[in-house]
Order: sequence, then structure tokens, then C-alpha cells
Amino acid sequence: MTNSDALSRLLAERDWILADGATGTQLFNMGLSAGEPPELWNVDHPDRIRRLYSDAVEAGSDLFLTNSFGGNASRLKLHDAQDRVFELNRLAAEIGREVADASGRTVIVAGSMGPTGDIMAPMGTLTHESAVEMFHEQAEGLKAGGADVLWSETISAPEELKAASEAAKLADMPWCGTMSFDTAGRTMMGLTSAGLAALAGRLAQKPLAFGANCGVGSSDLLRTVLGFEGTNIPVIAKGNAGIPKYHDGHIHYDGTPELMADYACLARDSGATIIGGCCGTTPDHLRSMRAALETRPRGDRPTLEQITEKLGGFSSESDGTDGAGPAPRITRRRART
Ligand SMILES: [Zn+2]
Repeated sequence: MTNSDALSRLLAERDWILADGATGTQLFNMGLSAGEPPELWNVDHPDRIRRLYSDAVEAGSDLFLTNSFGGNASRLKLHDAQDRVFELNRLAAEIGREVADASGRTVIVAGSMGPTGDIMAPMGTLTHESAVEMFHEQAEGLKAGGADVLWSETISAPEELKAASEAAKLADMPWCGTMSFDTAGRTMMGLTSAGLAALAGRLAQKPLAFGANCGVGSSDLLRTVLGFEGTNIPVIAKGNAGIPKYHDGHIHYDGTPELMADYACLARDSGATIIGGCCGTTPDHLRSMRAALETRPRGDRPTLEQITEKLGGFSSESDGTDGAGPAPRITRRRART
């Protein structure tokens, strides 16, 4: 691996890297309404996007994701904005670049690329070629805006992760990929943690780091991270703030900053190098995670019992690697994280 890009250099220097928290949670707090595509805010409310990024950087994040999760043609088409892919992604990264460069330290701008929302062939209609083309178009916008690295996230299908890796190669950009293990320890399309570790190792365009984001609770996420054992690629852990609570028909996460401090250290002890949060993770959580990573010593690899003692129970008996996992199920759209 070359050290020619900013994230590779930071990975070579540092023992752990603090990523950011939730994007969706923060944007809803700033007034985003349900169903409104946040990528349009890169044009309409750049001040709010600047604040989103600055809040993470000021809380101690060394890396943050751009506001471009749904910025591919397939998702933007739902809002008749499919012709604005390049513009919206370029701006997402450009604002990020400004915030990172003004921080006075090394901060990585990671160009977020969420799933297309379409089911890939042969189960669905999205061909490999069109998936690569869609991600490549998005990647070029993020690159033009000055993103340091592409960051494919919340992916369920191995085919979609492969398409993202090929897009990164076409754009001549380093990349990272995280999948969401939300179905009894597996991704919605049935991939296990061990399956992702194997896949990451054999992709033509090797990721700088790979791992898990979102999914169910932070304890489930760490069980997944333990399942990456043996990989020689740096591991990413971006878990939700605590365990999901169902409230008035929707899910929310109310884990405290103290809980996320424990989570961050357990993630490091479990083998993760890039550690951040997902749904429900605010700048207050990030500050507490940073303080804990800086002051608490590294510990032994935790047992499952130690994880549930500190973070809460798992959502399923098994982590899905014992062959007892459910069959893949298909839903069309993934929730924004
Ligand atoms: Zn999430």
C-alpha cells in the first residue's frame, strides 16, 4: 500500500482515528424534514452543512463523512435531481475541504457514498455496469470537491460493495467500505462478518479500511468487529449510540456519552482502528469518546459478556457465522444513517 494519500499517512502515524457520528440525526435537529433529500442543502443551506462538519471536528473527530450519502443518480431521481449528481457531491466535499483545512490539524474528508437503493442483479434489476457507473459519477464529484477518500457505507449486498470498489478505481481514488449488519448478525443480503473480511481481502481495488456501520445496537456492532479477526486491513467501527428503543412507532438511540466512551475503547480493544458513531451519536458523544481513547489504556480483546455488560444485550443469539442465520430478505430502500 502506498502512503501517498492523507488517510494512509494518518493510519501509519496513529494508533486509532476518531471518525464522526450521525449525519441524519444532526440534520434532522437542524430542521431537515423527513423525505427531504439532505444533499440539496449543500446548495441551499451550505452554512448548516459547514456547521455539521465543524461540530464533529470541534468535538475531536479526525475524519468526517460528507453530506452525500444519497447522492447517487438512483436516489436523487426520487426527487427529480438525478442530473445534479456531480454538483451536489462536489459541493459536499468542497465545504468539507474548507472545514478540514481550517482546523489546524490533519482532518480527513471522506466522501460518503450510500447504497443505490436498488437491488442488484440477478435478484434485482440493477446491473453491475450501471451500479459502477452510478458510483463513479458520484466519486468524480467528490474528487473534484477535494475529498481525501471515498467512503462507501451502510451497504448490504457484496455486489454493491464490489461496484463501489471498481468506481473508486475508475476515479483513481483510495476508498473505504462499511456494511450494515442488521439482520441477526448478518447484512440484509446475508453476508457475515467473516464474509466481509474475506471479500475485502480479495477486491481488486483494496480498501484502506473496511468494517461495519449502523446495523442494530453498539453491542451487536462490536460482535461483528470481533468477527473480522485475522484481517490485515485496518478495521472501521461506526456503531449506533446504544441499543435501539422503539418509541411511537420509530426507532431511536439514547445511549449516553459515557456509554459511547466505553464503546469506543471496547471497539479499539476489539481490533478497530477507525472508530466513530452512527445513529444517535452527537458531538457530545464524540467528545466523550475522544477523551476516553486518549486517557484509558488499551485492554485485552473483550469477551461477548464484557461487551453486553457495558453496552446492553445483542439483538440475536448468534452472530450469523454458525450457519444459523436467516435467509436474505429484500427491501427496497435503506434508511438514512
Ligand atoms: Zn446508523
